[in-house]
Amino acid sequence: MTREQVIEAARAAFLAHYGVAPTAVGVAPGRVELLGNHTDYNEGFVLTAAVDYVTAIAGAHSERPLTYLATSADFPEVTFDPSAMEKSTGEDRWANYIKGIIDELQKTGTPVGKFAGFVVSSVPDGSGLSSSAALLVATARLLTTLWPDPLADSPMELAKLARRAENGRFVGAPVGLLDQFSSACGLAGNALFLDCRSFAWRAVPLPSDKAGILIANTNVKHELAAGGGYSERHGQCLQAARQLLGRGDAKLRDVTPALLESKGIGLNPVLKQRAHHIVYENARVEKAAEALERGDLAEVGKLMKQSHESCRRYFENSCDEVDLLVEVASALPGVYGAKLTGGGWGGSAVILHDPTVIENLKAALTESYTTKFGKAPTLLTTTAAQGAEGIAL
Ligand code: ADP
Ligand code: MG
Repeated sequence: MTREQVIEAARAAFLAHYGVAPTAVGVAPGRVELLGNHTDYNEGFVLTAAVDYVTAIAGAHSERPLTYLATSADFPEVTFDPSAMEKSTGEDRWANYIKGIIDELQKTGTPVGKFAGFVVSSVPDGSGLSSSAALLVATARLLTTLWPDPLADSPMELAKLARRAENGRFVGAPVGLLDQFSSACGLAGNALFLDCRSFAWRAVPLPSDKAGILIANTNVKHELAAGGGYSERHGQCLQAARQLLGRGDAKLRDVTPALLESKGIGLNPVLKQRAHHIVYENARVEKAAEALERGDLAEVGKLMKQSHESCRRYFENSCDEVDLLVEVASALPGVYGAKLTGGGWGGSAVILHDPTVIENLKAALTESYTTKFGKAPTLLTTTAAQGAEGIAL
């Protein structure tokens, strides 16, 4: 479904469900990390893009006594009093994302009261495209349209509010800003360069007629992904930074390649490898943003390949399934680069390609992957897409 079709589906579903027309829609995309793997919590740099898969929530002020939420996803309808909210449990947990946004808006003084909402989404489940950020930011856009708020003038402030909602008492997930930022600030035809320390950012051109993005999902999740590989890497990065910089709150962001080469000799070899990945990955993200500003997609592709190799050798968060997709894609004409995207040990590869080769690329990936692993990967095509918006109907 296109963005417009999802918006229209949310509008129609609201009407069918509540018997009245909605007065506004909030819509927000998922996102993909193009470069900068595990750099965010090291306060480094990330290159990301909003994708063509979106969540839309249609809404209207409620004529009835409570707030009513429904979704076309497989979750039940939830009803509550917005002036006395409690954390939802069990199957109702999905409503916590919306309660979190209501709570944060109320804290900033926006008088969010009762409303009805209906959620429709094209962000595929479990694909690593951040459906939670899409739901949060779409809700923030809907509610700041129903209760106009100056906050809505700043996509970055909306992203920060959505992050607080995901971190806060309703959802309680200790996530960084990256997902909400990408969803709120996306610009069609552009990638986004984010400094995860200062939150300064800029858009860099990634035009859809020159660069297609293919997300190839292995649909596998290895034990390390589920069993704490992510938090283990997080801990190793902090430990390496402390030892290299001699400060308790040190981050690998402040380690230069020169410092790593001179002081890294004393580090435990595993910590040195982890630091090596992050330090050079940050440098690659900066180089890639500059390359996109020059329109040099071939250079970005080279940096993506180096990133993947670094994940494999130094960060050790790739796996055979992702490696195969990267290897097959990289060998094809018209492919600029390919790499692991997301936490690792399964999940997806992201492939940057000339749009004219998409059919050949999809066929080659499906054939090689199916031959080796006995099932097809899920292939999602996208371009660098527009971020969230609130639409008054
Ligand atoms: P992701 O990597 O996709 O962000 P999360 O676990 O962070 O995965 O968020 C997924 C959760 O977000 C779902 O379990 C559900 O609670 C909520 N969610 C996402 N999309 C929808 C939707 N369309 N309708 C209702 N809830 C949704
Ligand atoms: Mg999420």
